Amino acid sequence: MMKSTGVVRKVDELGRIVLPIELRRNLDIEIKDPVEIYVDGDMIILKKYQASCLFCGNAKDNVIYKNKHICPNCLEELKKQ
Ligand SMILES: [Zn+2]
Repeated sequence: MMKSTGVVRKVDELGRIVLPIELRRNLDIEIKDPVEIYVDGDMIILKKYQASCLFCGNAKDNVIYKNKHICPNCLEELKKQ
């Protein structure tokens, strides 16, 4: 469900918007974290970016191995081989 935070921010000369600190804390977004931009009609949606598993596309609890994201399931399968 989409809900308004009640926060209104102005876009600056370079097109930047500051994400309120409370929001960043709540969503665990740290400085330099990647944020993915979605568009839905006239809405711009920001989502904390989580790279998906190289093999199955899962985006949860992935580990990084040699710069590739792998989910725990696929990692287990690889270990068995
Ligand atoms: Zn996987």
